[in-house]
Amino acid sequence: MNTVHIIGAGLAGLSCALKCQNAQKRVVIYEASPQAGGRCRSYFDTELDLLIDNGSHILLGGNSETLSYLNQIGSQDLITEIRPAKFPFLNIKDNNYWEITPPNILSTNWWKNKNFNMPKIKLKDFMLLLKLGLAGRNVTVRDIFSENHPLYPILLDPICKAALNTAAVDASALLLWQFLKNTLFKGEKACRPMIFENGLSPTLIDPTLQYLQKGSAKVLFQTRIKKILYEDKKVKGLNFSDRNFSIQPNDAVVLAVPPDTCSELYPELNLKLQTLPIVNVHFRINKNITLPGNNLFLGLIGSKSQWIFIRDKLLSVTISSAKSIVSMPNKELAQMIWDEIQYICKINQKTPPPWRVIKEKKATIAQTPIALDGRPMVQTLVDNLFIAGDWTNTGLPATIEGSILSGNIAANEVIQKIK
Ligand SMILES: Cc1cc2nc3c(=O)[nH]c(=O)nc-3n(C[C@H](O)[C@H](O)[C@H](O)COP(=O)(O)OP(=O)(O)OC[C@H]3O[C@@H](n4cnc5c(N)ncnc54)[C@H](O)[C@@H]3O)c2cc1C
Repeated sequence: MNTVHIIGAGLAGLSCALKCQNAQKRVVIYEASPQAGGRCRSYFDTELDLLIDNGSHILLGGNSETLSYLNQIGSQDLITEIRPAKFPFLNIKDNNYWEITPPNILSTNWWKNKNFNMPKIKLKDFMLLLKLGLAGRNVTVRDIFSENHPLYPILLDPICKAALNTAAVDASALLLWQFLKNTLFKGEKACRPMIFENGLSPTLIDPTLQYLQKGSAKVLFQTRIKKILYEDKKVKGLNFSDRNFSIQPNDAVVLAVPPDTCSELYPELNLKLQTLPIVNVHFRINKNITLPGNNLFLGLIGSKSQWIFIRDKLLSVTISSAKSIVSMPNKELAQMIWDEIQYICKINQKTPPPWRVIKEKKATIAQTPIALDGRPMVQTLVDNLFIAGDWTNTGLPATIEGSILSGNIAANEVIQKIK
C-alpha cells in the first residue's frame, strides 16, 4: 500500500488524513508541536485553572464541510447550535442593544423583519449587499460601501473582521460575497451560530486523533520537518533534525503548514501573502456574571473588544485584525479590556480577575484583493507534492471551513494520484 505523508496536524492536515485513511491509504502525520490542532487548539491554563482555547472560534450552519467532518468524528453533539439564528450586538457608545435574527428566506418572515432588527437600517440598504456579488477581483468592501453607509460600522466592518480577519477598508469584496452566499443569503439555518462550549480540542481535534488511531494512521509529534529533499521533480525524503524519512516512488506528500513554512519547504511557490493578528483575552470569572441579553456571545460596536464569549467560569474577548493593539504589553491590554467588560457586564471590580492574553500574530492571511491571486492551488510542479491549508485557493475565507475543505481537496488529488 502507498503511504500519504502529511506535514502539519492542523485541521487541513487532519481532514486530509481522515479522507485518505477512509480511502484505505496508509497515513503518517508529522507535527512540529507536541499537540495537534495548530491555530485551533485548547490547553489547560494553570494560571486560570481552566481549559481554554487559543482563541474563541465560531462556526455557522452553512459550514457544510465542517458539519460533515464533525459527523464523521462523532462530535456533532458537542457543539452548541443557537437556534433560531441570533446575533446579539451592543453599541457601547449609546448602549443600544439589538439582535440580528436572519429570517428563513422562504417564509413571509423575511418581509416582516424588514430591517433584520438593526438600528436605522432599511431593506434597501440590505439590497446593496448584492453589489458585492458583482465586484471585480481587485475591489475592497470599502470601495463599494463608503464608511458613512449605515451598514458599514454596525455590520460590514464587524463581519469583515470576524469572517475575514481583515477590516472592511482592505477586505476583498468577492471573498465577503462568497461568505455571505453560503450563510446570510441561504437563510436562517445557514446562519445559526455554533459554539464550542466544550473547547476546540475536545470537539474538533482529540476525536479526530482517536478516529485516526483506530485506523492505521501514525501521528509523530515534535517532528518539525526542516527540509524536503527533491530529485527529478519528486519528493525523495523529509529531513527532521539529523535523520531523513525516505519517501517511496509511489508515496505522496501533503504540505499542510502555514504559508511561511510552506515557502521554506517548497521555495518555488514564491508566496507573497501577508498575515494579520488576532488577540484573545481570557478571564476567569464568577459564575454569576452574565452578558447583556443573557447570551453566550455578544458582538460589540464602539469598543476595542469585538466579541465576548462566556462559558461557565471563562469569559473570553476576541479582537480580530488586531494590528493596532498586538504590541501592547499584556498587562495593559488585559486592564483595558477588563475596563470595557466591567462596563458591559456591570461588574464593580476595577482589578481584573486572573487573565491570559493570547496573541496569534499570524492568525490568518490578510484577505485582501491582492491575496486572492496569491493563494496557490493544491497541485504543485512536483509530481508527488500537494498543498493544503486555509490560505490556499479554496474560494472561501481562511477559516475552519476553508481549512477542512482544502484538506479534502488535497486528499481527493492524492487518492487519484496514488491509486
Ligand atoms: C485566534 C483565532 C481565532 C479564529 N477564529 C475563527 C473562527 O471563529 N471561525 C473559523 O472558522 N476560523 C477561525 N480561525 C481560523 C482557523 O483557526 C484556521 O483557519 C484553521 O485552524 C487553520 O488550519 P490549518 O490546518 O490550515 O493551519 P494550522 O492550524 O496553522 O496548521 C498547521 C500545522 O502545521 C504545523 N507545522 C508548521 N510547520 C511545521 C513543520 N515544519 N513540520 C511539521 N509541522 C509543522 C503547525 O504546528 C500546525 O499544527 C481563527 C484563528 C485564530 C488564530
